[in-house]
Amino acid sequence: MKYIFVTGGVVSSLGKGLAAASLGNLLERRGLKVTLQKLDPYLNVDPGTMNPFEHGEVYVLDDGAETDLDLGHYERFTNSVLTRSNSSSSGQVYERVIKNERAGKYLGKTVQVIPHVTDEIKRRIFKLGEEQPCDVLITEIGGTVGDIEGLPFLEAIRQFIQDVGDDNVLIMHVTLIPYIKAAGELKTKPSQQSIAKLREIGLHPNVLLCRTEHALDDDVRRKLSVFCNVPLDAVIEGRDIEDTIYRAPLLLQEAKLDDVVCKRLGITAPTANMADWEVFVRRVVNPEKHVRIAIVGKYLDHKDAYKSIYESICHATAALDCKAEIAEVDAEDVERDGAAGFLAGVAGVLIPGGFGERGTEGKILAAQFARENKLPYLGLCLGMQIATIEFARNVCGLTGATSTEFDESTPHPVIDLLPEQKKIKGKGANMRLGTWPTTIKEGTKSALAYGQREIRERHRHRYEFNQDYRAQMEAAGFIIAGTSPDGKLVELIELRNHPFYLACQYHPEFQSKPNNPHPLFKGFIAACLAHGQ
Ligand code: GLN
Repeated sequence: MKYIFVTGGVVSSLGKGLAAASLGNLLERRGLKVTLQKLDPYLNVDPGTMNPFEHGEVYVLDDGAETDLDLGHYERFTNSVLTRSNSSSSGQVYERVIKNERAGKYLGKTVQVIPHVTDEIKRRIFKLGEEQPCDVLITEIGGTVGDIEGLPFLEAIRQFIQDVGDDNVLIMHVTLIPYIKAAGELKTKPSQQSIAKLREIGLHPNVLLCRTEHALDDDVRRKLSVFCNVPLDAVIEGRDIEDTIYRAPLLLQEAKLDDVVCKRLGITAPTANMADWEVFVRRVVNPEKHVRIAIVGKYLDHKDAYKSIYESICHATAALDCKAEIAEVDAEDVERDGAAGFLAGVAGVLIPGGFGERGTEGKILAAQFARENKLPYLGLCLGMQIATIEFARNVCGLTGATSTEFDESTPHPVIDLLPEQKKIKGKGANMRLGTWPTTIKEGTKSALAYGQREIRERHRHRYEFNQDYRAQMEAAGFIIAGTSPDGKLVELIELRNHPFYLACQYHPEFQSKPNNPHPLFKGFIAACLAHGQ
C-alpha cells in the first residue's frame, strides 16, 4: 500500500480537501483502489456539535459518523464509501488516549504527546488501511503547517514514514503563491517559509501544489524547486478556477500531478480516462437553460453551510442541461416582510435542514407560498417538518401546530421527539444518524422519481412526524409517500394536487454524485424547469 499525505501551508482555505479528492479521482481512474481520510486538529470529538457558521456543513456518512465537509468532496469525486474510520479529530485521539490511561493500559507510564498521542494517530492510519485495503491511502491533515494543534499529527507522520519506508510515502504540500500587485510578481517566500516549518519537523514534501491566481512562469517554478527542495516537475500549478470546482481533476491531470505521483511512488498504471468527467464539466459550464430557485435558510452567510445541497443542485442541473441561479433568502427576512417579495420570481423553493426556532416562522411562510402558488418545493429534514407544520396549521386548521423542538407546550405537536430521543441527555453523536431504509408508496411522485420502492438514505435528526395526526392530514391531501419499513417513521411526504411538493426527513444531498444526480434533486429541478415555462 502507498500513502499520500496532504498538508497545507501559508493560509487556510486553499482547497486541500478538493486537491486530495481530485488526486483520488485521477488515481482511481488510473485503475487504482483509493481511499481517503481526514485528520482534523481541533479538539471537538466530531464537528456534529459545531454551528454551521463555525465549521460549515456537517457531512453524514452511511454509518452515521458526523464528519467534516471534505469527506463530501472525497465521496463525490471518488467511488470510495467512507466510514467513521476515515475521519479522526484530535478530540477523538485524546479521548481514546485518556480512556486508555484510565483503564490502566499504559502500565504506570507518564502519558505524553510523544509517544502516546502520536501512537494513537498512527494506529488510526494503519487501522484504516486494514479496514479498507487499497492501493493508495490519501490522508489530508486539516489546518496549516505551523499551527500548534497540528504538530502531533505531523510528528506522527514522520514516525509513520519510518515505519513504512520512505519509498511508500508521498507528501503533497498545498501552498499559496501570492501575487503582489505593486511588484507585479508572484512571491515564493511564504511557501519557502512554510516548507522550512515542515522540515523542522522532519518532513520533506515531494510535491508542491501551488495555489495561484496567475500562471507560474519558469523562473518561479525553478525558485520553488530549488528553495523548497522538490523536483522541478513536482512543482504543480493549481490555478484559481472560475467556473466549477469539478474542473480541478482535469487541470491537475493537465499539470501532470498524477504522473508525478505515480512515478514517485513507483506505480505503473494507465492514464486516467476523464471522458465522462469532461462531459459533465462541459454541461456544468455551458448550460442551455437557466432556472431560478430560492433556498430559504438561516446559515446563508457561510458559503459552506449548505455545501452538499449546492453540489446536488449542480449535479441535477447539469443532467438537465440548465444552470441554477440561486436566490439565498434569509428566513428571518421572510418572517419580517412576507414571502411574496422574495419568492415571486423563482421557479422553486428549497428548505434545507436546520436546528432551533430562529427563522422557522419565515420558512413556514415560504412553504405556504410554495403550496398555494403551486411552486415546486423540496424540503430536506427540517424542510419536511416545516411543510408538515404549515399544512397542519393552514389546511387542517390546527391552530398553533408546531414542533416540540420550538414549543414544548404546543396544543398540536405535529412534529415530536423520536421516542428513543426522549431519554437522551446531552449533545453529540446521539441523533438518529446514518443510513436507514425507506419504503415508498406505489403511485406517488416519489416512487416515480426514484424508480424503485426500497431506498436507503442518510439521516440526522431528533424529531419526527407525529402519526397521531396522520389520518386527519391524509384526508386533507397530505400524502405519506415513504416510511421506515415497519411503518413507524414518516420519511417522505408529498401533497395532492400540486405539481411537485415533496419533502423528506433524510438528507438526499449526501448521496448525489456528479454523474449520478440524486433522483429527488433531479425531480425538483425538472419541476422547476416545467414551472418556468
Ligand atoms: N431540528 C430537526 C430535528 O432535529 C431537523 C434536523 C435537520 O434538519 N437536520 O429533527
